[in-house]
Amino acid sequence: MNLVRLAAIFVLLCSSACFAALDRAAFTFTSYDLELRVDPAGQALAARGKITLRNDSSQPQSVAAMQISSSLTWRLVQVAGKPVQFETQPYTTDIDHTGGATEAIINLPAPVPPRGTVEIEVGYSGTITPEATRLTRIGTPAATALRSDWDQISSSFTAVRGIGFVAWYPVEMESASLSSGNAVFQTLGEWKERQAQSSLKVNFCWINDDAPLTVVANGQLEGIGRTSPVQEGQGITGCTPYRFAPLGLTVPTFAIGNFAALQQQLITVYHIPEHEAVAEGYAAAAEKLAPFVAQWLGQPHSRVKIVELNSGQAASFESGGMLFTPLNPQDPKPLQLQMVHELAHASLSSERPWIYEGVAHFLQAVEREQQDGREAALAYMTGQLPPLIEAEQAVDEAAARGLPPPEADKQSLINATDDVFYHTKSMYVWWMLRDMVGDPALRRALQSYRADQDHEASYMQRLVQRQSQRDLEWFFDDWVYRDRGLPDLQVESAYPRKLLAGEYVLTVTVKNTGDVRAEVPVAARAPQGEMSHRVQVPAKGKAVVRIRIPVVPAEAVVNDGSVPESDPNNNMLKITTPPQSP
Ligand SMILES: [Zn+2]
Repeated sequence: MNLVRLAAIFVLLCSSACFAALDRAAFTFTSYDLELRVDPAGQALAARGKITLRNDSSQPQSVAAMQISSSLTWRLVQVAGKPVQFETQPYTTDIDHTGGATEAIINLPAPVPPRGTVEIEVGYSGTITPEATRLTRIGTPAATALRSDWDQISSSFTAVRGIGFVAWYPVEMESASLSSGNAVFQTLGEWKERQAQSSLKVNFCWINDDAPLTVVANGQLEGIGRTSPVQEGQGITGCTPYRFAPLGLTVPTFAIGNFAALQQQLITVYHIPEHEAVAEGYAAAAEKLAPFVAQWLGQPHSRVKIVELNSGQAASFESGGMLFTPLNPQDPKPLQLQMVHELAHASLSSERPWIYEGVAHFLQAVEREQQDGREAALAYMTGQLPPLIEAEQAVDEAAARGLPPPEADKQSLINATDDVFYHTKSMYVWWMLRDMVGDPALRRALQSYRADQDHEASYMQRLVQRQSQRDLEWFFDDWVYRDRGLPDLQVESAYPRKLLAGEYVLTVTVKNTGDVRAEVPVAARAPQGEMSHRVQVPAKGKAVVRIRIPVVPAEAVVNDGSVPESDPNNNMLKITTPPQSP
């Protein structure tokens, strides 16, 4: 064996053995204080600052690690003013748009005891250009991938999202791959939850040829931005400080550009100066929909904030009460839905995603109903159902075989970290609640909600029960506190009978092969119209309902689309037996 090969084997052994002791979940990053220098013309950023890490493991830690985007390079790591020994390695992970991170593995000068903290001074720099490797390598066409991974620094368009998109501030978590189910969502969800109480302070600085630039970020503005000439004839520079504290579930995001601001009572739109007319369209839509949202949630407590992405193709992104979106003159209906969502956020705060996001998605469906009726709203929800069916598949399959659901695949709404749950499943849960208790009771419950009093999982349940005088324990238990998957409802049998008065009654037996109880409408249909009744179908059980209808019924249908089901295509039974005489 030659020396080179021996050396190679040694390196291999070392890279697995030497870092084996590295516990990537040991430290919580409790505070960041960074200065970010952004150079749009050079597509570059350089950062310098301090990060405090707290050892939340039960062991003393003598090694800490930090990941930044793979397009950035570590320049400096110091502890207590002294440079410390650190190694860097590329680390494959899909938490960053490049599909990788640059990880610094830092030998701390002294072990940090459990609950102890260490302040690390860092410096790093590099470029942030459009990149979608993490998506293209799993087969997403490049153009589609770049619509979703649009983050970049450039002279025409600078907008960069944080964790989950671009690691522009250091983080640390185990590698997660988009090719393995919802591993990336789960890893990011756990990271956000752990750092929810942390604070991030960033002084965003920029340099430009001639025109001053504006920094917009989804944190709290800390004072006024300052600008100053760099040097005679060498352009100008400016800085704007923002604070994200507590971080909560916010993805810290910034945009830097030549923005004009359209300020109204309900909304602020940061747009490129030529797009004033489109921005006014957004503001007008918000104005028009405000009474509808207020009816459900009361008056808004903050302004809707919209930041234009100067790339017509980019997918909208929302976080921390701010919407980053291309401003396109669009059909009024989708725009109205978008504005309802944002107004909902401005009117209802909650640290629970199933409430904060779920209610916003639910009100979009209700607005869809305002626009074109209940059928249209149900079709709008059904359009979002397939990813939920997929996410619940493992749980549903276990239920079908009479097995307990696989622990790793369960996501109770109350703890859900995957957005298909707190967007889509939650939207359905609110809609089902509405169908069960009625609009007035649900509106009163939502308006009596106070985020600062929401200390227990059952708080929302109690509010809805108080307003509706209904015991909803079973519903919250099956749909919110636990993940029991989705029901699968079918009509088992339907027998018509003629009544003396010339009417008909249809006796329908409905069966549920899923593991979750549901209250669902059952309809007797005829060419002339339909009559329906609501019925509760137990998990793995049956329910019988009798529906009176003035004409001969032709079919029985369970579920009008308001209850999400694992198989929505087996809900109708044609009636073949002639009605029995009275
Ligand atoms: Zn939202």
